[in-house]
Amino acid sequence: GYEGILRRQSLRESAARTYARSLPIVPVRARGLTIEGADGRRYLDCLSGAGTLALGHNHPVVLEAIKKVIDSGAPLHVLDLATPVKDAFTTELFATLPGPLADDARIQFCGPAGTDAVEAALKLARTATGRSGLLAFTGAYHGMTAGALDASGGAPDVRVTRLPYPQDYRCPFGVGGDRGAELGARWTENLLDDPKSGAGTPAAMILEPVQGEGGVIPAPDAWLRRMRRITEERGIPLIADEVQTGVGRTGAFWAVEHSGVVPDVMVLSKAIGGSLPLAVVVYRSSLDAWQPGAHAGTFRGNQLAMAAGAATLAYVRENALADRAATLGARMLARLQGLATAHPCIGDVRGRGLMIGVELVDPDADDPAATVPPPAPELAAAVQRACLDRGLIVELGGRSNAVVRLLPPLTLTDEQAVAVLDRFADALAAAER
Ligand code: PMP
Repeated sequence: GYEGILRRQSLRESAARTYARSLPIVPVRARGLTIEGADGRRYLDCLSGAGTLALGHNHPVVLEAIKKVIDSGAPLHVLDLATPVKDAFTTELFATLPGPLADDARIQFCGPAGTDAVEAALKLARTATGRSGLLAFTGAYHGMTAGALDASGGAPDVRVTRLPYPQDYRCPFGVGGDRGAELGARWTENLLDDPKSGAGTPAAMILEPVQGEGGVIPAPDAWLRRMRRITEERGIPLIADEVQTGVGRTGAFWAVEHSGVVPDVMVLSKAIGGSLPLAVVVYRSSLDAWQPGAHAGTFRGNQLAMAAGAATLAYVRENALADRAATLGARMLARLQGLATAHPCIGDVRGRGLMIGVELVDPDADDPAATVPPPAPELAAAVQRACLDRGLIVELGGRSNAVVRLLPPLTLTDEQAVAVLDRFADALAAAER
């Protein structure tokens, strides 16, 4: 029975397992927004494979694309050889890239995870510039391998200079809005221009246009344009990590498009593989400083992932799902903001498109020095549990794990959106008690 599966896996798997702790379910079937557990219960899945499932689970066009490769007799393992499947994927991906990059792009297949593509991007920037330093942001998440970890918000490597990521609700400069973003940009400029700061001229700046794991924090467009100008003026390649924000999620095909910023390097994974593992780096051809074989990997040629990914990219483009994410996301944000006025434990509601975060706080905490109440991670965990009890899967994030994150598929219908928010509101009311 499913309880045996849960028990055995909790005994056999490493203490590092994450999602399985807060989501003790045994998925056996899934379609669209819905996962069915081995116990027969059905769940609305607003985690979507940590933002991977742009089209939800087992979308017919994805399944069809996978079947087509299998039925064709094409080899499933081809290392990094050229194939019709890879050709079709690359063509489809290049058609989606921001103009100036699409005209002059190189693609590097990495594999198989987002963190692998982050490593490749960092190494590429270091190879191309001959420099080693890196500019990265507080609260960032880029993966769990060593270089990606350095770039993330935790304990930094000596070569990483940590910069403040702009944020309204817990603004590091205490003002938020345009002024906070402006101060953040100036902080960055001063640091780079101060010979004593140690930042020197680094090999790259890496940023998420919307921080995901960091608690769904959208960077203001004007700030992103400033970062573009600061890096351009100093010859520092700008790496946009669009692993989570890409493929329509934020209401544009790529999140950098909101600001018009064209990065030098884009790191892509999750949704580009249409549920299967796939990760690539796309960059300006002038950065292509690799020697042949300078970066390798056995699993760079996943044909099924490329086929599933090409089908996903095409479906998102043809059905204008980025626009759909923008409209529906705005509507969901508005309803959540309404909920916040009735529930003081909701400190902040934010997001872009269908990447939504609800930060839970302790409104009664007594700290006159604080501008906003402290985060409430225990309440957030209780809300997550209450959601699961009501058949809704959500994930937590943020530096204190007090942000409830909603990452539904872009195929979410109006009715499903209402059902998700009804269950969330009900769970919040129950957890508050
Ligand atoms: N970058 C970002 C922005 C991410 O959100 C993630 C995963 N959540 C990664 C990189 C790492 O991807 P992976 O887990 O596939 O290594």
